[in-house]
Amino acid sequence: MLSHAPAIRGRFAPSPTGPLHLGNARTALLAWLDVRSRGGTLAMRVEDLDGPRVRPGLEARILEELRWLGLDWDEGPDVGGAYGPYRQSERGGHHAGALDRLRDQGLAYPCFCSRAEIAQASQAPHASDEGPRYPGTCRGLTPAERADRAARRPPAWRFRVPDGPVPFRDGFHGECTFDVAATVGDFVVARADGVPAYQLAVVVDDAAMAVTDVLRGDDLLPSTSRQILLYRALGLPEPRFAHVPLVVGADGERLAKRHGALSVGELRERGVGAPAVVGLLASASGLAPPAARVMPADLVAGFRLDRVPREPARIEGGGWVSP
Ligand code: GLU
Repeated sequence: MLSHAPAIRGRFAPSPTGPLHLGNARTALLAWLDVRSRGGTLAMRVEDLDGPRVRPGLEARILEELRWLGLDWDEGPDVGGAYGPYRQSERGGHHAGALDRLRDQGLAYPCFCSRAEIAQASQAPHASDEGPRYPGTCRGLTPAERADRAARRPPAWRFRVPDGPVPFRDGFHGECTFDVAATVGDFVVARADGVPAYQLAVVVDDAAMAVTDVLRGDDLLPSTSRQILLYRALGLPEPRFAHVPLVVGADGERLAKRHGALSVGELRERGVGAPAVVGLLASASGLAPPAARVMPADLVAGFRLDRVPREPARIEGGGWVSP
């Protein structure tokens, strides 16, 4: 039987705001295996919109370290491809077009609330960074009130969130649902300085890059319902989502500095080889025995995402004193 399903397309979406740590590397490994084991294509998209936090030189370093780990991609800022540009900062036209469509439909409205509040809400892809529910202060302003406020300062833009839960099926967690209206409220899609928020940029770019499979850390699980609302509002096809558990230290807490050497670069500088680092990530993911020495390509045959353990991956970074 002929299949009309689109070819599998996955992506890496690193933010060049901090060094590549074992948690990001493990998510990247699983995203790579998930796509490569199904004969799909991978795009590298650099999420560099968070101006003040983006550090020069980090993009090149992250890409180089991912390659050192044996991961590769078919499209990206360094290799080109048909869906470029592959840096979010160069995709302003796509983001602005989507914002216009939301405004034209009355689905985005200007918000004049304090800059600090908006800055926090707009660049917070991770649940723990988010503030309280937006109370809807600017939702019902009259045209005259808007014009009056806009004369004093440019507004941010919020998405008008419909009431009710937004269920979706996650490839790892199964049925999930979040009530965006009740928890987050109308969220920011563009800042007053014109920079699109993570939620809008990620949806627009994943859709424009024809991404069929989004695999990322489950700290982004609560964002998914927001993103689904944007896919629907913009009339874009939704990808499949799979959110993998985070990496934790031996004490079960989210991996942090106090657990020891955590960045791929640090381990490399200490002389730890790529097969040992990949082996650590793979054994923490139930894909290889403890202390295995493997490369990603060794793990492709027989990889199944549903065999990855449900509980967070435990890594004892501090154990890395010798290669
Ligand atoms: N750029 C985000 C991060 O580094 C990932 C966004 C996503 O995968 O949707 O946390």
